[in-house]
Amino acid sequence: MQQWWHLDIESVVEHFKTDLDAGLSEQQVQEQQARVGLNELEQGEARSPLKLFAQQFQGFVIWVLIGAALVSALVGEGIDAAIIGAIVVLNAILGFVQEFRAEKSLAALKKLASPNSQVVREDQHQEVPSAQLVPGDVIELEAGDNVPADCRVVWVSSGFAVQEASLTGESLAVAKEVEPLEAEVPLADRINMIYMGTSVTHGRAKAVVAETGMSTELGKIADMMGEIEDEMTPLQRKLEEFGKAIVIVCLALVGLIFVMGLLHGGELKEIFLTAVSLAVAAIPEGLPAVVTIALALGVQRMVKRNALIRKLPSVETLGCTTVICSDKTGTLTRNEMTVQKVYAKQQWYDVSGSGYEPKGEFSAGKAAVTVQDHPDLVMALKTGVLCNGARLVEDEEGYDIIGDPTEGCLLTAGAKAGFTRESLEEENPVVDEVPFDSERRKMSVVCRSEGKLVAYVKGAPDETLKDCTHIQEAGQVKPLTDQIKAQIMDANSELADQAMRVLAVAYRPLDDSMTEFEVETVEKELIFAGLFGLMDPPREEVRLAIEECAGAGIRPVMITGDHKKTAVAIAKKLGFFGAESLALSGTEVDGLSEEALRDKVEKIAVYARVSPEHKLRIVRAWRDRGQIVAMTGDGVNDAPALKEADIGVAMGITGTDVTKEVADMVITDDNYTSIVAAVEEGRGVYDNIRKFVHYLLSCNAGEIMLMFVASLFGMPAPLLAVHILWINLVTDGLPALALGVEAIDSGLMTRPPRPTDESVVTRKGGLLMLAQAALMAACALGAYIFARQHYGGLGYDPEILLRKSRTVAFVVLACSQLFHSFNCRNLRESLFKIGPFGNLKLVAAVSISFFVQVAVVHVPLMQGWFRTQALCATEWVWVLLVSSIPLWGVELGKAAMKRVRKA
Ligand code: ATP
Repeated sequence: MQQWWHLDIESVVEHFKTDLDAGLSEQQVQEQQARVGLNELEQGEARSPLKLFAQQFQGFVIWVLIGAALVSALVGEGIDAAIIGAIVVLNAILGFVQEFRAEKSLAALKKLASPNSQVVREDQHQEVPSAQLVPGDVIELEAGDNVPADCRVVWVSSGFAVQEASLTGESLAVAKEVEPLEAEVPLADRINMIYMGTSVTHGRAKAVVAETGMSTELGKIADMMGEIEDEMTPLQRKLEEFGKAIVIVCLALVGLIFVMGLLHGGELKEIFLTAVSLAVAAIPEGLPAVVTIALALGVQRMVKRNALIRKLPSVETLGCTTVICSDKTGTLTRNEMTVQKVYAKQQWYDVSGSGYEPKGEFSAGKAAVTVQDHPDLVMALKTGVLCNGARLVEDEEGYDIIGDPTEGCLLTAGAKAGFTRESLEEENPVVDEVPFDSERRKMSVVCRSEGKLVAYVKGAPDETLKDCTHIQEAGQVKPLTDQIKAQIMDANSELADQAMRVLAVAYRPLDDSMTEFEVETVEKELIFAGLFGLMDPPREEVRLAIEECAGAGIRPVMITGDHKKTAVAIAKKLGFFGAESLALSGTEVDGLSEEALRDKVEKIAVYARVSPEHKLRIVRAWRDRGQIVAMTGDGVNDAPALKEADIGVAMGITGTDVTKEVADMVITDDNYTSIVAAVEEGRGVYDNIRKFVHYLLSCNAGEIMLMFVASLFGMPAPLLAVHILWINLVTDGLPALALGVEAIDSGLMTRPPRPTDESVVTRKGGLLMLAQAALMAACALGAYIFARQHYGGLGYDPEILLRKSRTVAFVVLACSQLFHSFNCRNLRESLFKIGPFGNLKLVAAVSISFFVQVAVVHVPLMQGWFRTQALCATEWVWVLLVSSIPLWGVELGKAAMKRVRKA
């Protein structure tokens, strides 16, 4: 392998035939890609479909069934054995299809979350998926980015540093340089290289990609890295425990039924098979798979609503969210900045125009001004353009910016006066920069202007003004008196009160002998040049989302780096800052103890001028009050707060790789509305899981009750083993799946959040379930007893009589379960209120199940297998009428409960 660190930059450039300004050409990229492939680490072997299918045959229940099939075959019941065998296989296929789908959709989601890189190709700045990088690509990195490949650094801003712990174990960030190194230096000392899998903590840099994919240092140790573990969600864990409890109860009951059957002189073989089938039917073995599917489907629905879930358990937690702490810029506002006001030399200027198109006029009072005649305005605009990392670009759709809109709008404002970044940089070549960080709230760029070194600075007015000692007035530099400072701060307040974001600009001629540019040496004794008032309108749709939050018992909280007045003005516009609400600044938070903050936290709607560490304290304060907190973040330093929150939310557009990596959820459009949508989906998923758990368990309980009561009274078993297995497969299978994809209940966001410790089956829900099970069992048992009496009275042959009565019980139980599935679409509202055909998948599933049920009763071959007897039209009518009793019964129950709730 090449020792890239040993080569000087020219040799690296020469080696790849690349260009530091223009990058590679598309053709070179294609050639390289054909040669080295994608910049990806080979994933561990995915579970093959065959393996997945084989896994369906693991598990206790399946082996019980296979055992039962073998026993049947041994005692000469070939058909029973075949049917049980077929059912085992069908079950496995169903399980396989479900899991395969779940796995596919999760894999697709992982792809969606893959990162992008900033690259220069064909003389254009572009953002491409990191997997498409090739050796020779020229990339740009900034704080918070993950390094996408092994690269040779060719330019660094002051303070550029990389966290390499994942590779070298070194926990402190390592500062990088560009000079060539000795050939024999260990990895940790190659300070002109940056490596895949590490991340930028400070500053900006430009680098040439040297190694990609499995040739990177990370690729070499990739085998050592475990795969991402599939975490079980709390719900899945709870269900598993719950399932175990049910198994014990079921087995006890089944044992009892077995003993009673023997006592009543039944045939051993028959009783044994029935007991086994009942055990199999009653044990909700399909539950975990269905839960996984419901979660995976929920995740897919969330993607459509711009929320990308990175950890499956978050889907559940989302539904419990009680507080959403969010940034302001871009999340609550549109992050489309426009400079509307400039304040220079104690004079106000208005700027017209909209968007990023550099078209607009400057005016003072109502009179248009020629910018060139106002030297202080010129200085403010120039500073804004030079102290800038964004680019203004024009394409078919018009003007846009690449980079931070806060900076981009300054480019537009400058261009309106004829100052483009390109032309200004040609006259004032950039020497170095001290990048923005959200704790200092400033940035500086050092240029050579007319042969002299000058620092151009911009930042939050309060922070910048602290470092100003002079002011430019009519082109002259004068001392900055306290009186003028106060006037400037008043101007700042005036802009903030109008919900504007304010930036101050300043500059300072530097000593020509300076070579190192640090914050301490550059950002002091500045000459104040002006203020910019940036309008960033609140997102219209967020107002509605916030209203929805109020109805859903969720508290919105704004945490911003911006000025308090700007923040409060926006919060008021969005409707979550009332007469009782408080706004605190970061400094005020510093003045509060943990307890004091905890006591106050529920009143505070806005935090302004905060640093990332305040976010951590705020999350903790809320969590200490037992609240479930979602917290957004974008910068590198937000990672700890995101980790601490119950739901860490990273911004997809403006967020850094580091925050995305620790986040539970990424919002792809940076919009607050998507967080609320995800909460709604989270509630919906849980609600749906609850629905089919309710359905499955009430059906299973019904089967057990039927068999138990019949055996208690010494009746011949109303159902045969194959009937039970069949019902388990047909009525529990398809409809349960369809319930899992039920559309979200429209009333979900009008209820308070669900407590996290609430179990899937509440005491009330459990009782309801048992009552409904009893109703279904009673219908089947009643029909069975009636049939025995009725057909017995008609003088049927005993064998045929038993067959006929069993067929009636079988059909009634199966059909009542199908009717019951409609009950479970909504556990509170009447089916007729939500629309009986609202879930077409369920209608289809029930229809299919019903038709195969008819086939089992009427197709001669199946009659033989299932020992059924055909029913005539009249019989079907009364059988279906009886089967529908659970539907009407539950409807009545719902109406009664509604009355009680209202009262
Ligand atoms: P939020 O956390 O809601 O997104 P924010 O974007 O306003 O808030 P920061 O980006 O930390 O928070 O900005 C804090 C302050 O720093 C801003 O109010 C502004 O005055 C200043 N600022 C923001 N971006 C820049 C920049 N690129 N250069 C100089 N100063 C900036």
